[in-house]
Amino acid sequence: MITPLMPVYSRIPVAFERGEGMYLFDENGKKYLDFYAGIGVMCLGHSHPTLVKAVQDQAAKLWHTANTYEIPLGAKLAQRLTDASFADTVFFTNSGAEAIECAIKMVRKYHYDKGNKGKYRLVTMANAFHGRTLAGIAAAGQEKLTKGFEPLPDGFDVVPFGDIEAVKAAIGPETGGIMVEPVQGEGGIRPLSAEQMKALRDLCDEHGLLLVLDEIQCGMGRTGKLFAHEWAGITPDIVTAAKGIGGGFPLGACLATEEAASGMTVGTHGSTYGGNPLAMAVGNAVLDEMLAPGFLERVRDMGDKLQARLGALQQKHGDFISEVRGIGLMAGLRMPDVPTRAAVIDMIDRGMCPAVAGDMVLRMLPPLIIEDEHLDEAIEKLDSAMNDWREKGLPA
Ligand SMILES: *Cc1c(COP(=O)(O)O)cnc(C)c1O
Repeated sequence: MITPLMPVYSRIPVAFERGEGMYLFDENGKKYLDFYAGIGVMCLGHSHPTLVKAVQDQAAKLWHTANTYEIPLGAKLAQRLTDASFADTVFFTNSGAEAIECAIKMVRKYHYDKGNKGKYRLVTMANAFHGRTLAGIAAAGQEKLTKGFEPLPDGFDVVPFGDIEAVKAAIGPETGGIMVEPVQGEGGIRPLSAEQMKALRDLCDEHGLLLVLDEIQCGMGRTGKLFAHEWAGITPDIVTAAKGIGGGFPLGACLATEEAASGMTVGTHGSTYGGNPLAMAVGNAVLDEMLAPGFLERVRDMGDKLQARLGALQQKHGDFISEVRGIGLMAGLRMPDVPTRAAVIDMIDRGMCPAVAGDMVLRMLPPLIIEDEHLDEAIEKLDSAMNDWREKGLPA
């Protein structure tokens, strides 16, 4: 019999009751070091006082109006995001998938308005993840996402990850843009190099295409810069953000240059909830912390330490760890001979929550407020787990 909660997830049998900073507590009061942060969403950790206060204050005043009216908190958040990034304008959504949908529509409208209405296709990369809408799964081109949901929206040409020659070959008269994750998340914590990012920018310039970067997982401070593309020193045309941008409140955003967004005029797009006062109050509170002097520097520092400590762990446990991946606090351990889901469950038993990603990777996205003591605890737990796996056998 089907469960009342639609059974689309393979859930690990643990339920958390509350969270505090870097820790989660289950129904029995057991404490867990959170190294997943709800898929990188809880960038400020759990129950951060600034966010709790922002929600409480705004909830007592005004939750929702409609985009029929002015929403000053939204104008303020958009101003702050554009001041802090490449973008000139922002559309707010409730999720990452909706931000992707906005980006795809924006590319099509841009070319349509320029009189190139046939330029509707996007080149994307294999093992990508762009959300669960029909367009999002079509863009990712992974059979595990698309099977049974055909026909899919047309307009996506998927090339092998990081293969710039294949991107070149896929560009045709109908291509309107390139859409990639600067660091693939679900696909296995795989960064594109600065050279690859620059090559994509050059191809877009050469062919009059828009460069769309999906920073829903790697953006909002995760790599130690507000957006991961900043490491490559390139300027995108459109960037999608979500996850960390709301610190746990459902919020997404599609950021764009004035030129890229030139077709997004009155009536062309919209959302009932997107950018409502409650969401905007929380979004501003997240930025109060993230853009405070020293915050991102500290993320970079902790990210360097995490990557170095994982590197040392690989030296010690090279029989399990074939590769350390990622940038900053977006990290993965590739463990080709370890069943990663069983490893995650074993780690949760030990009081630490990492997660899986594709390509046999143990994924770590700790809250950005992580401190040295948490890093010590995480490495100690991973180290002792791997010692046990060697002595007593792998988790199954
Ligand atoms: C999570 C994610 C999405 C989808 O976001 P939702 O909020 O689940 O719709 C899209 N792209 C990337 C890179 C993601 O990590």
